[in-house]
Amino acid sequence: MMNFIKRGILMVISSPSGAGKTTLTKRLAETHNMLFSVSYTTRSPRAGEVDGTDYHFVTNDEFTRMVEAQEFAEWAVVHGNRYGTSIATVNRAIEQGTDCLFDIDYQGGQQIRRQWPQDSVLCFILPPSMNELERRLRERATDTAEAIERRLGMARKELAHYHEYEYLVVNDHLDKAFSELSAIYVAARCARFRNEPLAQSLLSEVVKRDH
Ligand code: ADP
Ligand code: 5GP
Repeated sequence: MMNFIKRGILMVISSPSGAGKTTLTKRLAETHNMLFSVSYTTRSPRAGEVDGTDYHFVTNDEFTRMVEAQEFAEWAVVHGNRYGTSIATVNRAIEQGTDCLFDIDYQGGQQIRRQWPQDSVLCFILPPSMNELERRLRERATDTAEAIERRLGMARKELAHYHEYEYLVVNDHLDKAFSELSAIYVAARCARFRNEPLAQSLLSEVVKRDH
């Protein structure tokens, strides 16, 4: 088979905090050998978070420098901290055909979709209920009571943007939500435009043989 470099997929996963996007994104990245886009943030690391793996934790000054140097594909203020996606990761997807996963909020999702409408696939994870969302946030026990209240308040704001996404996946059972996201990814890989160079090349070979 001829080898054509396909443009990589920019798979954006958003959800209210606690709906399960970190869990699902990590599993998708491992299973499908996709690159997880490690964002830059000015927030402090939570217990167990590793610099360079979960986030690149940077100071406010460093973040400002990166904004000014245009090192971000998108950035936004979320829960009072700044978060940004490295432009290098997006370029790697587009130029080298590496499929990438972005765990980013709706503001980031909108910016990615606006800049790369054909390459991006936008998925929104819904919790089965608001009660379950609250239970997961409390059980995760990574935030203070005050931070959990703030995140629940923000969840409503984030939910209001569901209509900007192409896909809504309900994370009631983890395995089911995971296989639905996997199916969306595999379908995106088979999109006509991603495979068109091969189809065109086969067609021109057929035409040559016919003459
Ligand atoms: P987010 O990244 O959206 O804030 P997380 O992936 O951190 O959410 O998930 C929040 C908590 O809920 C974690 O403790 C995680 O283990 C748990 N969780 C995720 N999906 C499920 C599920 N389907 N059923 C029960 N618990 C879940
Ligand atoms: P957390 O602090 O819980 O890790 O993340 C808070 C929110 O910031 C989540 O909704 C997460 O998706 C979002 N986020 C993480 N990285 C980025 C990023 O690079 N850009 C944007 N716009 N949002 C991000």
